[in-house]
Amino acid sequence: MKFIKKFDHYITAIFVITIIVIIATSYFTFKEFFNASHQKQQEVVMPLFSLIHSEIIRPLTVSQYMATDPFLLDYIEQDKIDRTVIIDYITSVSNQFNTMTFIAIEKHQLLFDTNNKTTSLSVKEAEWYHRLKAIDQTEFTDFGDAEDPHLFFDVKMFNKQQDFIGFIGLAIDLDHFANKFSKFKEKHGFKLYFVDNNNDITLSSEQIMQTMSHHRKDVVTNINELPWYNQYQSNNDTGSSQYSFGDSSNELIISQMPLKELNWRVFIIAPPITEQSVYWQLFMQNLIIFIFVSLALYYLFTLCINNFRSDLVKDSETDYLTQLPNRSFIHWKYSQLNEEYEHVSVVIADIDNFKILNDTYGHLFGDDVLKIIATKLSENLRSIDLAGRWGGEEFIIILPDTNAKQAQEIINRIRKNIANIPFTPSSTSKELNVTVSFGISDSNLTDITLEEILEKADQALYSAKTNGRNQVVIHLE
Ligand code: GH3
Ligand code: MG
Ligand code: MG
Repeated sequence: MKFIKKFDHYITAIFVITIIVIIATSYFTFKEFFNASHQKQQEVVMPLFSLIHSEIIRPLTVSQYMATDPFLLDYIEQDKIDRTVIIDYITSVSNQFNTMTFIAIEKHQLLFDTNNKTTSLSVKEAEWYHRLKAIDQTEFTDFGDAEDPHLFFDVKMFNKQQDFIGFIGLAIDLDHFANKFSKFKEKHGFKLYFVDNNNDITLSSEQIMQTMSHHRKDVVTNINELPWYNQYQSNNDTGSSQYSFGDSSNELIISQMPLKELNWRVFIIAPPITEQSVYWQLFMQNLIIFIFVSLALYYLFTLCINNFRSDLVKDSETDYLTQLPNRSFIHWKYSQLNEEYEHVSVVIADIDNFKILNDTYGHLFGDDVLKIIATKLSENLRSIDLAGRWGGEEFIIILPDTNAKQAQEIINRIRKNIANIPFTPSSTSKELNVTVSFGISDSNLTDITLEEILEKADQALYSAKTNGRNQVVIHLE
């Protein structure tokens, strides 16, 4: 019994430990996964800076450099200029930076570009020249060429007397930016929006950039028109560079960065945290299901074990032939009674001349007799009493709260009942009777072990046998 309780505890402990290990492992795996993705967000800052620098700041710097090149400034102020010198100059820059390069000269009213075109500044395409010239500002970014949209970096040139002498700059294909930014988004998950001082979107990692026309009449061109922007604006009075809003399952983290060189701003939108919280939700859901399934399994498992075990226990405590409790159960029961009762009578029953019976009518008949006598010994007892098979043709009866005298009366009745049973062995038609001798000893349960009390009962049984059998004898101190 003790072992069985221990077994129960082992099973429960193994189950609990397994569940804890599974939960802990999956929790840490998830955590690890998210830590890694957080790290990824940190790692994106450097590539973003380098992208902005190489794609936006550098073309501007190159244009600024050309606009202050003394050789060039002197040359274009001359009365006669050689077209090839100019073209060579801008082509060398163009080749180096892989961009379209142009120069517009005020004195000669001519526009040269690396597409090998020389255009008069009075034509319609040169409209930008006069528009930007009129603005009191040195550097411009401008979209031009509706058929083949480019972002133009235009820088004004001035002579030593600070007179305006023309424009020089680079133009970069919008598709080139679209390509770069969408690659960046693919790799790091961040969306980018470049916005000028009118809140017009100049460049972006999103589809809106890939329109063929720089006028982009039918598509969103102002950041105000983006659904998240108004919410961002109204929540971002603090002017902090980063802001996040939305509930935890749909959080949007937006960072804003000024691009002072161009008087632009860049909005950087982090990849949705949504995915993370969805994972956590999934994790919690699975955890709950897992715990329920585990509990159900545990319940079924213990049910099976208990069922199986009660069969097993019953088998291990029962004598196969007579189906009475066996010697091991009698021991256990005695120790149980010890805790509940003060007084007990113990009876040993031994079938008389059983060897002769066996020898005369065979073992099978002997077994039948054992079974019938076992039934007779156990019936009509109280529920607190116990009758068991001690071994061979010997039985034990334990009667708690019963003194030897009372026990003798009870056992005498049983003895007479047994003696009156008519047995008919198959080998003969003659009826015969089988008798049993009994020895009784009573004691205080706390004072005596089962072995000691049985010793005394055995002595009484011996007296019964020597006195002629078929009788109940009480052990006398
Ligand atoms: P006494 O009256 O002095 O008790 O004589 P007895 O013959 O009953 O005693 P003894 O101890 O000499 O013989 C007991 C016999 O019980 C011997 C053994 O073969 C038989 N026996 C023991 N267990 C079983 C059993 O399970 N089935 C059968 N058929 N016989 C058994
Ligand atoms: Mg015997
Ligand atoms: Mg006997």
